Amino acid sequence: RKSVWRLSTGSKELDEVLAGGLESQSVTEFAGMYGSGKTQIMHQSCVNLQIASKIFAETENVLEKELPNPKSVYIDTEGTFRPERILQMAEGAGVDGQYVLDNTFVARAYNSDMQMLFAEKIEDLIKGGNNIKLVIIDSLTSAFRNEFTGRGKLAERQQKLGRHMATLNKLADLHNCVVLVTNQVAAKPDAFFGVAEQAIGGHVVGHAATFRFFLRKSKGDKRVAKLYDSPHLPDSEAVFRITEKGIQD
Ligand code: ADP
Ligand code: MG
Repeated sequence: RKSVWRLSTGSKELDEVLAGGLESQSVTEFAGMYGSGKTQIMHQSCVNLQIASKIFAETENVLEKELPNPKSVYIDTEGTFRPERILQMAEGAGVDGQYVLDNTFVARAYNSDMQMLFAEKIEDLIKGGNNIKLVIIDSLTSAFRNEFTGRGKLAERQQKLGRHMATLNKLADLHNCVVLVTNQVAAKPDAFFGVAEQAIGGHVVGHAATFRFFLRKSKGDKRVAKLYDSPHLPDSEAVFRITEKGIQD
């Protein structure tokens, strides 16, 4: 088994809740309402992957062997990836934004089939010599939620989501990647989503994600991230901020 490395979120407090940062060989879920900061954390992670001081490993050896010229794959299902925001965050962190963009593969998925196919194709990118170390699915659930509506489609949705999560877990394990997924939670759960979305999406994703966060807005630029249901970490909360520079304490 390769040794786990960690990626900083940009917030020390949030990294501490994760016992040091986002872990490789696992899938981490960020759930929360619209505007809670899910997509911002995804952008920041792409920037931080290009900053040596934001990558934590137990030995120098891990960094040299595992992380030379690391690259990200960002599967964007909602059209919310913004290169300008990457440039802004990179400037905030003092790194070359164009370099970050050059090392970030962005794929816009218009439906769940494309989303699943792109995830399966990451293996080919790796075989082609790209050192993919970060995989992002933003959003994991929106396409599934839009396409599989009604009770009659629940079983199919659950099965497909389960298969997608298995693909992601396999990537994380085999290639020692950090995998991040987002999951938007409805502001006002209606009768159907209130029960079905939480129970079905929640159940399948819940079993496949090692770390699960729930994000919520606080005062001004502050956000609260609550870690829950982790197999080996206590439930706890971190406060972070979203500023022009990015995710910060
Ligand atoms: P979601 O959880 O829906 O993905 P986002 O990650 O898109 O939410 O967060 C959007 C919020 O991030 C905005 O409401 C704003 O508060 C903050 N934000 C986005 N861009 C900037 C920026 N350039 N400077 C400061 N804050 C920003
Ligand atoms: Mg978003």
